[in-house]
Amino acid sequence: MNNIRIKILQRKMKLYYKKSSRVLPWRIKNQKNQDPYKTLISEIMLQQTRVKAVLDYYKNFLKKFPDLKSLALANENDILIAWSGLGYYRRARNLHKTAKIIIKEYDSKIPSDKILLMKFPGIGEYTSSAIASFAFGKEELVIDTNVERFIKRIFNINSSKLSPIRIKELGEIIFPKKNRGDFAQAIMDFSNDYCTKLSPKCSSCILSKYCDYKGFGNYKKIKLKKNKKYCISYFIYDSKELFLIRRKPIEEILGGMYEVPSSIWQSNEKIADMGVIKLDKSYNPMFLKKTIKHEFSHFTLFSKVMIIKKEKIIKNNIKGKWVDKNTIKTYPISNLTKKIIDYSLEEVASLRKFL
Ligand code: SF4
Repeated sequence: MNNIRIKILQRKMKLYYKKSSRVLPWRIKNQKNQDPYKTLISEIMLQQTRVKAVLDYYKNFLKKFPDLKSLALANENDILIAWSGLGYYRRARNLHKTAKIIIKEYDSKIPSDKILLMKFPGIGEYTSSAIASFAFGKEELVIDTNVERFIKRIFNINSSKLSPIRIKELGEIIFPKKNRGDFAQAIMDFSNDYCTKLSPKCSSCILSKYCDYKGFGNYKKIKLKKNKKYCISYFIYDSKELFLIRRKPIEEILGGMYEVPSSIWQSNEKIADMGVIKLDKSYNPMFLKKTIKHEFSHFTLFSKVMIIKKEKIIKNNIKGKWVDKNTIKTYPISNLTKKIIDYSLEEVASLRKFL
């Protein structure tokens, strides 16, 4: 690809960004007015999550934690509550740790240097480049999956095995020397409008004359077969409408969040009893009619929910907290736990009606 074509491509993208870029609450047109804290929050939230899903969380999060100091001083539970439903909760815990480090060791100022940014928990190659570039105007190459796909198509390279170094080399060819942050954001928006993952709109694309893409075959949506996991959840309730929850160990999936106690998530459908509660022999606990199904990125979890009356338990080794439908709101819970609680409370209420 010769220099003239690259220059035209850059100009077209600049114009496209000026006229058609998405209006996003964390994006300020004049980069000099950009608040690095807002860039930090948005970039962490956008890791593995779509823009649409992040929008509401971002606004609410900033209402609760408007600046770095309020975030650093906050209780981890409150941060997880604000993050509840967004998934990948480790991000929230890492963000909290990062805020504390910046307050303590960096005079409360988010560093603009990519290498320093990469030292913070949960901030890797892409996120550090994005913060340095979008918040501080550093001329970094910001390459996310959209930008990578765009680069490969421009050069008509059909390979999933291109090394990060090679992608960067190709990026250096098409990225302008100045305003690289705008250029990267232009590509991200363009990938949403034209150069989409499954059906790029090449025939109406403003870059079609400057792009070598010949089509890499059919982009049929490949449905990946996910693994399945199974568990039993124990919804233990008492006569005062309280039910038992516990905090998941940090090292587990959804670690740090509260859950209705459940057995180990395993691939064998035959679930072993947790062995932490002993029931009255004459008591036959019922199961929720509905098996709760929840999608994670790499597997689907099926949870059978056992509904247990507290007074029928002879021995209980679960250390947790007793909450009701109002106080549960003061604990961070995942969408999975919310589903289990909602269905179980409904079941318990209908049981009471018939008593
Ligand atoms: S011509 Fe097609 S592949 Fe090339 S940038 Fe446009 S939409 Fe993407």
